Amino acid sequence: MTKRRAILLLATFLCVFLLLLRLVGYKGKPVYLASAKVAEESTNRPPAPQPPFMSAVAVPPPQAADAAPPPDKTGGFDGNRAYAHVAKQVSFGPRPSGSPAIARLQDYLQSELKSYGCTVETDAFSADTPVGRLLMKNFLVKIPGEKPGVILLGTHYDTLLKENFVGADDAGSSTALMLELARLLCPQHGKYAVWIAFFDGEEAMKQWSETDSRYGSRQMAARLSTSGDIKKIRAFMLADIVGGRNAQFPRESSSTPALIDLVWNTAAKLGYSAIFLNTSASAEDDHDSFMKRGVPAVDVIGDFVNNGYWHTPQDSLDKISAKTLAIVGHVFLESTKQLQTK
Ligand SMILES: [Zn+2]
Repeated sequence: MTKRRAILLLATFLCVFLLLLRLVGYKGKPVYLASAKVAEESTNRPPAPQPPFMSAVAVPPPQAADAAPPPDKTGGFDGNRAYAHVAKQVSFGPRPSGSPAIARLQDYLQSELKSYGCTVETDAFSADTPVGRLLMKNFLVKIPGEKPGVILLGTHYDTLLKENFVGADDAGSSTALMLELARLLCPQHGKYAVWIAFFDGEEAMKQWSETDSRYGSRQMAARLSTSGDIKKIRAFMLADIVGGRNAQFPRESSSTPALIDLVWNTAAKLGYSAIFLNTSASAEDDHDSFMKRGVPAVDVIGDFVNNGYWHTPQDSLDKISAKTLAIVGHVFLESTKQLQTK
């Protein structure tokens, strides 16, 4: 009996020791590698204490105040579908340009868009950044129209290169928004073509500057300039940080005034003046890459300076509201309709 007990004790001790060794082993690895690994292993190892970045992957249930209105109240836009797209992205872990996790997101984007019947062009390119040469991918959905002219919608889908940063709002929310818009718009044919851009590499790798930021949108704007297609773009509506529970949207002051008016007047008509404010703030973002080449553009961007979690590990799924996503989606759909009549 005593011998058996001793063996049992020794075995228990060995198990605990091995477990501790494994946990310690996770620490030094790059964030995105570690999180992907832990996410896979967590399914068959429930009792082990979780490293801190798992907290962001756990899905808290949305609260009643954040429930999405029925899609028929928001032009068909389904806030719950959009919310699920955010949760999916967050489950991949941090998604900076060039990471294994962003490759999984790229596969997800492509398979979702294909399932909606969208035509998608992929531009794979490499960008020289302060952290080395990175492979990036832009996606461009093209929905044909009857007359020459293009209405461009867009978002970035990469997340900031920062430990434990899963970017639920930046840029999970706007990526989800564009996916849901693609589902609704790909089967439709309007007067003008509608293109939907998914940019890689918006975030700076070290410090935001003209050369260290907006890699994807600069690449797309340059390519469309070379082909001459950029002249066809009548308006560019960009979304960024659009899913916060308490999101508010000041008018982005560097945008084209007529387009700011069009979007904010549309929001007011739909009854969203409490969220689409009459105040102004300016932001540097992917619209700059097109405005510098003469394209009229508007950036619909949440008040990130005051949201309390911008570019911190607290930008997690619990900050996201299906209702906010549905409201912004409704505004994008109605604004696109307005642009189709001009
Ligand atoms: Zn950002």
